[in-house]
Amino acid sequence: MSGPVNDASEEAQLLDMIERWTERELKPIVREYDHADRYPNHIVEQMKELGLFGATVSTEYGGLGLPASTYAKIVMQISSVWMSITGIFNSHLMLALAIEKFGTPEQKRQWLPKIASGEIRGGLALTEPDAGTDLQGIRMTARRDGDDYVINGTKMWITNGAEGSCFAMLVKTNPEASPRHSGLSLFITPKKEGFTVGRKLKKLGYKAIDTAELIFENYRVPKDHLIGGVEGQGFYQTTGGLELGRINVASRGVGIAEGALKLATEYAQMRKTFGKPICEHQAIQLKIAEMATRARAARLLTLDAAAAFDRGERCDMEAGMAKYFASEAALENSIEGMRIHGAYGYSQEYDIERLYRDAPLTCIGEGTNEMQRIIISKNWIKRNPIA
Ligand SMILES: Cc1cc2nc3c(=O)[nH]c(=O)nc-3n(C[C@H](O)[C@H](O)[C@H](O)COP(=O)(O)OP(=O)(O)OC[C@H]3O[C@@H](n4cnc5c(N)ncnc54)[C@H](O)[C@@H]3O)c2cc1C
Repeated sequence: MSGPVNDASEEAQLLDMIERWTERELKPIVREYDHADRYPNHIVEQMKELGLFGATVSTEYGGLGLPASTYAKIVMQISSVWMSITGIFNSHLMLALAIEKFGTPEQKRQWLPKIASGEIRGGLALTEPDAGTDLQGIRMTARRDGDDYVINGTKMWITNGAEGSCFAMLVKTNPEASPRHSGLSLFITPKKEGFTVGRKLKKLGYKAIDTAELIFENYRVPKDHLIGGVEGQGFYQTTGGLELGRINVASRGVGIAEGALKLATEYAQMRKTFGKPICEHQAIQLKIAEMATRARAARLLTLDAAAAFDRGERCDMEAGMAKYFASEAALENSIEGMRIHGAYGYSQEYDIERLYRDAPLTCIGEGTNEMQRIIISKNWIKRNPIA
């Protein structure tokens, strides 16, 4: 792929290409790679060719410069077949976003072209063993030492942690700061001496992609690795990118919800009981109707949030609604899809069990659904004050 999409027909061509790639390259291998928890190196190479590592990076830096709405549709398509591999470029694009949105001109010139091509691959590292939702409670520190910073601490649950080579790393440059968020800073941290990968974490689902613990011991970076060049901006920089992150997770949820619906739709027409296909029994019809409605509503909410993002509007509430609804839709559709498959839904020889294992992650990542509801409510009240 090359260049941005300029109109609906270019977007349609792009999505058609992604759909053909998904069917040709992903569908035949997904079950094997998922069950073996094997990293798909050759798929990563194909993603580079497709330009996915630069999907939302500006063309000026060698990316595709896609709007969020097109990017969301790509993620939906791939996730309907194999959600976990979208994490390989999604988390990476959060690193790109942090640099493009908040980096200095020199940081953008230095890092973005290699990130957009996939030569450098990585992600966003916020979570620690004792702090996830409460980001301001992280303990990792960066201490200024001459023209360098020295970083110490441990990150947990970092997507692409083992296979990636560079991360946007949230640390405390001032652990005593009050309010706590004013002591947070975001650094570009390439792998080198002092930065080691601890355990690769074993998971319920989201297989074939690495999620790891990252350990920093007297890791030294020059001061020009501080994103934006000013200390204390890390919390704002991190949460400022979360809207796109939420749209991305919502899109994964839509993909799973639609994927489960597709599998259930096919199965319900093939499987017969009491002399007719099960889709002709009312109990199954009710399930299919609910699944189809949830999947459609999730898609529309997500595209609505993406459109607000593309208009340059602050869209915490819309992105929160999309993320919350689409991830719950993924969870509900995957279990309903499994029920429609009867015993075969419980078999590793069918795909629905993978969707059922993958779906819960979408309720956790990029802010748990408990937090999404709090964000939605706060924004709703703010927009609707009493006169
Ligand atoms: C497979 C996987 C990949 C991940 N990848 C990354 C990554 O690449 N980078 C990264 O930085 N992180 C990553 N994470 C971590 C993820 O972002 C965190 O797990 C998430 O933010 C929740 O944090 P926690 O697990 O510490 O839960 P906690 O913050 O301990 O929350 C526990 C529970 O309490 C609830 N809760 C917490 N605070 C409140 C509150 N104020 N009000 C109401 N309820 C509350 C939560 O909703 C949750 O139900 C990943 C996680 C997983 C499972």
